[in-house]
Amino acid sequence: MANKIPRVPVREQDPKVRVTNFEEVCYGYNVQEAQLEATRCLGCKKPRCVESCPVSLQIPQFIEQVRLGNFAEAARVIAKDSSLPSVCGRVCPQETQCEGSCILGIKGEPVSIGKLERFVGDWSIENGGEAVTPAPANGYKVAVIGSGPAGLACASDLAKMGYSVKIFEALHKAGGVLQYGIPEFRLPKDKVVAKEIENVLKLGVEIETDVIVGRTVTVDSLLDEEGYSAVFIGSGAGLPRFMGIPGENLNGVVSANEFLTRANLMKAYDDRYDTPIYVGQRVVVVGGGNVAMDAVRTAARLGADAHIVYRRSEAELPARAEEVHHAKEEGIEFQMLTNPIEVLGDEKGWVRGIRCVRMELGEPDESGRRSPIEVKGSEFDIACDVVIMALGTSPNPLIASTTKGLDTTKRGCIVADEAAGQTSREGIFAGGDAVTGAATVILAMGAGRRAAKAIDAYLQTKA
Ligand SMILES: Cc1cc2nc3c(=O)[nH]c(=O)nc-3n(C[C@H](O)[C@H](O)[C@H](O)COP(=O)(O)OP(=O)(O)OC[C@H]3O[C@@H](n4cnc5c(N)ncnc54)[C@H](O)[C@@H]3O)c2cc1C
Ligand code: SF4
Repeated sequence: MANKIPRVPVREQDPKVRVTNFEEVCYGYNVQEAQLEATRCLGCKKPRCVESCPVSLQIPQFIEQVRLGNFAEAARVIAKDSSLPSVCGRVCPQETQCEGSCILGIKGEPVSIGKLERFVGDWSIENGGEAVTPAPANGYKVAVIGSGPAGLACASDLAKMGYSVKIFEALHKAGGVLQYGIPEFRLPKDKVVAKEIENVLKLGVEIETDVIVGRTVTVDSLLDEEGYSAVFIGSGAGLPRFMGIPGENLNGVVSANEFLTRANLMKAYDDRYDTPIYVGQRVVVVGGGNVAMDAVRTAARLGADAHIVYRRSEAELPARAEEVHHAKEEGIEFQMLTNPIEVLGDEKGWVRGIRCVRMELGEPDESGRRSPIEVKGSEFDIACDVVIMALGTSPNPLIASTTKGLDTTKRGCIVADEAAGQTSREGIFAGGDAVTGAATVILAMGAGRRAAKAIDAYLQTKA
């Protein structure tokens, strides 16, 4: 019986070695391992895994092709719904999506869908898998703002339908968080991100970097002066939040976004680059999400004694279970149920520690998680020379403030309907973190794809 085969384990770099380098942690499956794991899939007629995939990847179909050794065909099946399989195979929270719903997971271990997707994506990169052929050009131009997963997914689908698509990107490299946020040891930039972006370019999508929409051009000038018939805003949520506690202006306090951008996009970890980055002896990262895990593991690799401080308990950690497991293996210290109340400085204005209080859990709040309550009189200090704030991010207000009639929420997110990404302005669509606030790669891709369909429907009514 196929489902009696145990899940094929994946090989990883030794934790003691990998904490001294930025090479990828997980090696992925080889051909034999992938084919063996593929035999575990039951090929369900009503696949629960597909229902839980925000981009509706045809999972049993691609896994069947892996089982048969038809890797090019597996890549073609995936390419119909996703341009980023090597990325998604590495960073998607499969445990709460496709794998979380796999029928085999009810009594045992689900199929390792993410690792199989990664295998096919990597095989395709190494073997030049065939790209989907776009439909003939239909004469319409669509502008996409931001080259993160939302923008790339929207642009790919529109290009496949025959639209002429140009992405405008503020940074000097495309990819959004995939490029500037998620570290090399989880998502290699040249080997994976750049290659999957090349596949988007092969569909005919153009990317112009170093263009800040709202400064260099505006959404309205793209529509009124540059001949674009519709705009998709996928500008993400790159504005970091701080706690508002005393001492946050001291030297040595930094947002996780800045720290990771220096390390990843500006390659501070690589001796061949001059980018400055300060880690000191001991780093405290405040937060418990994927961003916090990436920051703390990066700090450890840069030589610091690295700690997580999180106000709830381990059960509430929002980071992927795999990332928490990897961080622990790498010797990261976790201070749970702990909340900072002040950053302490020395006479020269540099961080010398962080004052915290112990917390206990009360009733669930609106997020469904038990809310942390301060334990009176439990103050204590942790000595450190760097504090990295990884408390979440909001959308940058620039685009909304330079586009007339574009509604936003109290938190600065662009108001857009979930099904189509339609904003308060005709011809302007939005999706991904710019609409939801910080979320996930696959949700951003799903929103980009739905908006592409809606843009097509909108422009067809104008034809
Ligand atoms: C450190 C980190 C780790 C993460 N880890 C995971 C993970 O493991 N798994 C997961 O699923 N998700 C993870 N996420 C979340 C995930 O990366 C995001 O949800 C996703 O990238 C959102 O995609 P997006 O396209 O909406 O925005 P982004 O990826 O943020 O891309 C937006 C792009 O728009 C550009 N832009 C912004 N403003 C303008 C402008 N005015 N003009 C032109 N361009 C502009 C930005 O430069 C950026 O390139 C992580 C996030 C971070 C920060
Ligand atoms: S639910 Fe699991 S077993 Fe069924 S098709 Fe999906 S991956 Fe295969």
